[in-house]
Amino acid sequence: MANIILLGPPGAGKGTQAKRLEETRGMVQLSTGDMLREARTSGTEMGRKVAEVMDRGQLVTDEIVIGLIEEKLTRGAAGGFIFDGFPRTLPQADALQSLLARMGQGLDAVIEMRVDDAALVARITGRFTCGACGAVYHDATKPTAVEGTCDACGSHDLRRRADDTEDALKTRLMEYYKKTSPLIGYYWAKGKLVSVDGLAEMDHVSEAIAKILDKA
Ligand code: AMP
Repeated sequence: MANIILLGPPGAGKGTQAKRLEETRGMVQLSTGDMLREARTSGTEMGRKVAEVMDRGQLVTDEIVIGLIEEKLTRGAAGGFIFDGFPRTLPQADALQSLLARMGQGLDAVIEMRVDDAALVARITGRFTCGACGAVYHDATKPTAVEGTCDACGSHDLRRRADDTEDALKTRLMEYYKKTSPLIGYYWAKGKLVSVDGLAEMDHVSEAIAKILDKA
């Protein structure tokens, strides 16, 4: 069992790798982005505010995301947790450490997925996903075999995220460099940081992550 963080800018491939780890290792993906996208459909005042902040590409408050994570952590995961898109700030990182310590657990590795900005813009602006099964596609590099139909489950519910536009992406990248990238030094100092080349072919990234987990 291992608890890991996938750390990297939007579009680095964290979600794709997290889904693969769920399938191959029985780990549980905790994506605060997915949780917030669910919360915004609740029709509450909180959901409406969250939607506005997300669509601009800014970060939601620490209190909200820490609350969401806390609720999921208490359910436990036999194969361990994959934190995807969390923590994104130093206070979130401290909160995670306390929450895990309370459960008698810790972090086994923080995997930094390195990519350059130009690649991120290309990856993100062509991205779409299946609303039914979560499969991820891309206009240029991974289109569906039949237009408008998910290869994996046959659903026609293919969606683009409201914040996958060039404008929102610029804000998301700025937020990443200002508030999230300090976590690289934070986890390096704790001896937890391992970096992988996020621009490598998807299977090679998975192999690199598997090696890290086998050592953890
Ligand atoms: P993601 O799906 O991880 O790219 O997250 C999408 C959006 O959700 C981000 O741009 C933020 O607005 C919000 N979000 C997700 N995770 C966090 C977090 N840990 N802290 C603050 N905001 C978050």
